[in-house]
Amino acid sequence: MQDTASVLLIYTGGTIGMIQSPDSNSYVPFNFENLYKHVPELSRFEYQIDCIEFENPLDSSEMRISDWNRIGDIIHENYQKYDGFVVLHGSDTMAYTASALSFMLKGLDKPVILTGSQLPIGVIRTDGKENLITAIEIAGAKDEKGESHIKEVCIYFEYRLYRGNRTTKYSASHFEAFESPNFQILAEAGVEIEYHIASTIQDHESEGLKLEKNWNDRVLTIRPFPGMNPKYILSAIENPELEGIVMETFGNGNMFKNEELQNTLKSFVDKGGVLLNITQCLNGHVTAGLYESGLWLKEIGAISGKDLTFEAAVCKMMYVLGKEQDIDKRKGLLGQNLVGEMSI
Ligand code: ASP
Repeated sequence: MQDTASVLLIYTGGTIGMIQSPDSNSYVPFNFENLYKHVPELSRFEYQIDCIEFENPLDSSEMRISDWNRIGDIIHENYQKYDGFVVLHGSDTMAYTASALSFMLKGLDKPVILTGSQLPIGVIRTDGKENLITAIEIAGAKDEKGESHIKEVCIYFEYRLYRGNRTTKYSASHFEAFESPNFQILAEAGVEIEYHIASTIQDHESEGLKLEKNWNDRVLTIRPFPGMNPKYILSAIENPELEGIVMETFGNGNMFKNEELQNTLKSFVDKGGVLLNITQCLNGHVTAGLYESGLWLKEIGAISGKDLTFEAAVCKMMYVLGKEQDIDKRKGLLGQNLVGEMSI
């Protein structure tokens, strides 16, 4: 690797590079050249900056597992050539992709920064320029030992760097679109970029980057509500192909009792299914059995997802089910912190 820092941009799509369609006036994905044209500042960086773009840039609501894998493959194939990676991505499902990449990129010890914007780069008031420029700055930055400050998958948005698998998109209209409700931010960009090093993943032994992209999508999510009639989900739970359920319960992990639902979930778990209990609350965590109303879930064998975000929980479930066949190992992995996604 040369003295000048080198950063690879991976352009997947999203608002940042979109233009308005003349037919419908809706924003549609456009190519990287358009984006580059609006950020002449990129040529003033002292870094070497290269770009690989998706052949068909996507609105991020179209992101599939194969797209996560494609991003992983690009990072893996170019891992030795670059100091850091910036993934340009739509903000709608960015928290899912960041979570997925954090599980997929095993042994990562370089920055992978996802960013995007709420307004296209061609719009005068765009937030995209600052997001892009600072994300690149962070991806190429080194400490006094010549090492990257950041060795994990992050999201950079509106002056803040977040651990990717702790984020959720919480605003559809503010520039400050993301939150990390249960974990401190990793860096703040003001006049200087201030790293909160104690919060970053720094001291892991890495034997090099390995890709783990064996996802298993036999997963269902359930978000109950007061007054819900459970009969509409019983047949989904009884589907013999289903292997994992992420259930978003109330408060500390509480859930109303309903005999049919309780029996169906119990039989799902008894047959080897994995049930992960996370909270509908944005902040805080599941404390299994704190209330009598949550005890039954613990008793039938639900695993506490503690303070996992919904996005991280879904990705972790698909990752663990793809990685392990043994039921106890699956449960063990889901209940423990793997890559900083969960507080112990
Ligand atoms: N719909 C867009 C996307 O996620 C929104 C954005 O980029 O902010 O691709």
